Amino acid sequence: MKTYRKELVFNINKRVDFINITEDVQKAVSESGIKDGLALVNAMHITASVFINDDEQGLHGDYKRWLETLAPHEPVSLYQHNRTGEDNGDAHLKRQIMGREVVVAITNGALDFGPWEQIFYGEFDGLRRKRVLIKIIGE
Ligand code: ZN
Repeated sequence: MKTYRKELVFNINKRVDFINITEDVQKAVSESGIKDGLALVNAMHITASVFINDDEQGLHGDYKRWLETLAPHEPVSLYQHNRTGEDNGDAHLKRQIMGREVVVAITNGALDFGPWEQIFYGEFDGLRRKRVLIKIIGE
C-alpha cells in the first residue's frame, strides 16, 4: 500500500467563502501515483469545513443565508465562546454543520464522484492563513 500527504494553503480575503478544490485534490491524486484507493480531505481548523456538493452559485448563496440564520455572526455577544475575547463563535457552529472532512474513492487514478459532486473548502473565519490536509492511501 502507498500513502501520500499534501497540504493546501488558503488566505481568503473574506470572513465567509466557499472555494472549489476539486482540481487541487485530483492533482494530489495524480501526484500520488495511486490508481485505486481513498482520498481523505479535511479542514485543519475548527472554523472551516470541507464538504461535497454542487458548484452552483445559487446554492452557495443559499448556504450562506441558511448558515447566517442558524448562527449569525453578530451580535458577537450572542456566543459564550466569544467571552474568551474571540469573535468567531458563529464560525465554530457553521463548521460543525458543514462538516470537517470528506472521503472520496479513487478508481483508475481519478476521483470517483456521483453526478455533479465537487469538493469545496468552506471558510467561516477567514482573513488569515488556513490549511487543508489531503491524505491518500491505496495502490
Ligand atoms: Zn474560536
